[in-house]
Amino acid sequence: MTDLTLEISAELNADTPIMAFAQLQLAAPLARAVAEMGYETMTPIQAQAIPVVLQGRDVMGAAQTGTGKTAAFALPLLQRMLKHENASTSPARHPVRALVLLPTRELAVQVAEQVELYSKYTNLRSAVVFGGMDMKPQTLELKKGVEVLVATPGRLLDHIEAKNAVLNQVEYVVLDEADRMLDIGFLPDLQRILSYLPKQRTTLLFSATFSPEIKRLANSYLQNPVTIEVARSNATASTVEQHFYSVNDDDKRHALHQILRQRGMKQAFVFVNSKLGCARLARSLEHEGLKTTALHGDKSQDERLKALEAFKSGEVDLLVCTDVAARGLDIKDVPAVFNFDIPFHAEDYVHRIGRTGRAGAAGLAVNFVSKSDVRLVADIEKLLNTKFELEPIAFEEDLPDIRKQGHINDGRRMYKQEAGDPRHEEFVSRVPRAPRNEFKRPALSNDPFFDKPYVALTLAPDAVPSWETAAARPGVRTISSNIKSKRKVAALFKAA
Ligand code: AMP
Repeated sequence: MTDLTLEISAELNADTPIMAFAQLQLAAPLARAVAEMGYETMTPIQAQAIPVVLQGRDVMGAAQTGTGKTAAFALPLLQRMLKHENASTSPARHPVRALVLLPTRELAVQVAEQVELYSKYTNLRSAVVFGGMDMKPQTLELKKGVEVLVATPGRLLDHIEAKNAVLNQVEYVVLDEADRMLDIGFLPDLQRILSYLPKQRTTLLFSATFSPEIKRLANSYLQNPVTIEVARSNATASTVEQHFYSVNDDDKRHALHQILRQRGMKQAFVFVNSKLGCARLARSLEHEGLKTTALHGDKSQDERLKALEAFKSGEVDLLVCTDVAARGLDIKDVPAVFNFDIPFHAEDYVHRIGRTGRAGAAGLAVNFVSKSDVRLVADIEKLLNTKFELEPIAFEEDLPDIRKQGHINDGRRMYKQEAGDPRHEEFVSRVPRAPRNEFKRPALSNDPFFDKPYVALTLAPDAVPSWETAAARPGVRTISSNIKSKRKVAALFKAA
C-alpha cells in the first residue's frame, strides 16, 4: 500500500508558505484530479488549512465561499481516508467516515460536486442529501454505502431517524458556513447530529463571521482548534475592475446593452434591489433580444434551479437577480457583474461583486448610479475605505462628436473630466448629492435558499452571446420560457 499520509516536502523551510500543489505529496489519484481541474497554486486558505487538517487537528476557519475552502478541507480529508479505500460492493465496507454539513441545498450540491471531482480516481464514495425532494433516491444511495456524506441538517436527521444513515464510524466532521446554519435556526439539529457521532473525531468549522454564538459552538465541539483566517470579509477581490457610471434610470438598459457589446462579454449577472424589479427587468431585456433569466425569492426551488442551469449551460446570457441570489453562488468566471441598482446595504456590494474575479480571474463590476444612489455609493466607499470616480457614460449614437474624438466611454477608457468641459458640467449637474434623509432602507433579506452555489460555467469558446445579435436599441421580441408572463408579474405586484 502507498504511503497515504500527505507529507510536506522535507526540504521546505518551516517558514516558507507552501503555495504550489506540486509541493504537497498528494496521493496520486488526488494529485491527478487536482491537476485535471487546472489547480496549480494553492489559495491562502488551502495553503494554511491543508497541512493542519492532515495532522488531524481541529480547525476553526474564517473563510467565505469562493476562497477555495472546499478543497482546503476536502483534499486532506480524502487523503486521510484513502487508507479505508476499497473496491468491495458490500455496503458494510463503506461506512460514513466524513460528514460535511451545509445550510442549503445549493451549497450541499456544490460541495458534493467538488468532492466527487477530487475523489474521482479513488474508490471512495460520496453522496449528498438535502430536503425539498423525495427521500427514496437518497436512501438507495445511502444504503449502498458512502464514505463521504454531504448533507443539510434537517434532511440528515430524517435519514438518521429512518436508519438510512449510520454515523458511528464518522472520523471527520465539517461544519461549513456555520454562521448561516445558525441563522437558519439549525443549532438544535446540529447538536442532535453531533450527539450521534463518536467523540473521537476531527472537527472543522468554517464561518464567514465569528459571532459569540459561533464561538460557543466551536468551544463546545472543537478540541484545541487551530484558527485560520484568510481574508477580511469586507474586502473585494483586487482583480475586479470597478466602474461607477452616472446613468439616468431610463438609460440603464441601454447602457447595459452598450457595455456588454463593446466589452465583448459572454455572460453577466445583473443585480437589482427588488423581486418585482427583477422580474420586470428580465422581461424587458428578453423583449430587447437578450437571452435572460430571472432569479429571485418568489421563484420556486425548481424554477431557481432551472434558471441557474440555463445560465450554467449557456442557454441564457444574463442572469438578473436579487441579493438573495448573490450569497454563496459559485459560478466561476462570470465575466461581469452589473449593479443595475446600487445595493441598499454596502455589504451586499461585496457579495455581489464577489461573483466575478474569483480565484484570481479578472472580473468587471459595473455600477449604474442614478441621482438617488449617490448616497449608497458613499456607503460602499466607506465600507471599502476607498473612493470611486463617478464616470459619465457616452452613448455611441447620441454623442458622435465625442466618439470621433476618442472620448467614447465604453467602460475601458475613463472619461476625462476636465474643468470647464461642458459635458462634465452637465454630468455634475445631473448627479447632485442626495439629501441624507431620502433613503429608507428595507430590512436585510435573509432568504436562506440562495445561499447557493453552483459549478463552473462551461460555454463553448465561440458561443455568441445574445447582445451580439440583439438590436442596439430595444426592439420587441417574443418572450422566452425563461421569463414570467405579464399575468405572473402582475401577481407579483399583488403579492408585494
Ligand atoms: P470554493 O471556495 O471552495 O467554493 O471554491 C471556489 C472556486 O475556486 C471553485 O470553483 C473551485 O473549483 C476553484 N478553486 C479552488 N481552489 C482552487 C485553486 N487552488 N486554483 C484554482 N481554482 C481553485
